[in-house]
Amino acid sequence: MKSVGEVIYNAGTLLYSFFAVYQLILPAYDHIQGTVISSGEIPPSIAAFQALTGYDVYNNHTFNKWMLCGIVAYGSMGLVCGILDLCLPISFKTQGSRSYFTPQEWIDAVGLSLFNLFITSWAVMLPVYYFINVYPVHEDTPLDLKTEVVKFAVCAVTVETWFYVTHYALHLPMFYSRIHKKHHRFKAPIAVASMYAHPIEFALGNLLGVILGPLLTQCHPITSYVWICNALISTGGSHSGYKMFYADFHDQHHQYFDYNFGVGKTMYSMHGT
Ligand SMILES: [Zn+2]
Ligand SMILES: [Zn+2]
Repeated sequence: MKSVGEVIYNAGTLLYSFFAVYQLILPAYDHIQGTVISSGEIPPSIAAFQALTGYDVYNNHTFNKWMLCGIVAYGSMGLVCGILDLCLPISFKTQGSRSYFTPQEWIDAVGLSLFNLFITSWAVMLPVYYFINVYPVHEDTPLDLKTEVVKFAVCAVTVETWFYVTHYALHLPMFYSRIHKKHHRFKAPIAVASMYAHPIEFALGNLLGVILGPLLTQCHPITSYVWICNALISTGGSHSGYKMFYADFHDQHHQYFDYNFGVGKTMYSMHGT
């Protein structure tokens, strides 16, 4: 059962996700489209990427925007929590003075997270692109609010289940030492370490879990953008070390290792792990 504070925090996360989609992501994408894409001049790096992968950068707007959602959501939480780390007293953190990174740890965390976001993500996006081709629902399709709310909930259940199962598997000795140990480097993580993971873990355990919901439900693209932002902001919060972002649950997993395997507390309640 969620506390009132947690419900308010979840509502705030969702509200910011809407703001990010409508005020940052969609305008930024329109701007990119209006300048780079409509200019007709394909930058050499994009031309090379298209030639190498067969991915049509100029026509897969939904997939492109998913990438932009990832960048904006990760960047937003990194920025907000970074400012809070500089301003707020240590007492706001679940693990007190342990919950801060050295400059080198920060560089390592951001470096691998951005590598995963910009490079590793294609290991999932390209097969999805090839097997499903383009996301068939277009943005100008009428949006039925009730249906989209249900689909959003299905996305949440999907990621919770997927993350719990893959995360539990990653703690098996054969996978832990080779893959998941990387993510457990930080016993008291901060928000920018939310995507600090071995590329295999990031691709299969994290990213696939997040986009599986939109792929299964074929929700409206706008719903998928809000969903992806919401999922990544929540992940940033659960790695932030801040009590007010309800980081204690996942923080205990980093601290004590064999507890709290889920994204939220649902699977914990069902399985006691
Ligand atoms: Zn773990
Ligand atoms: Zn973690």
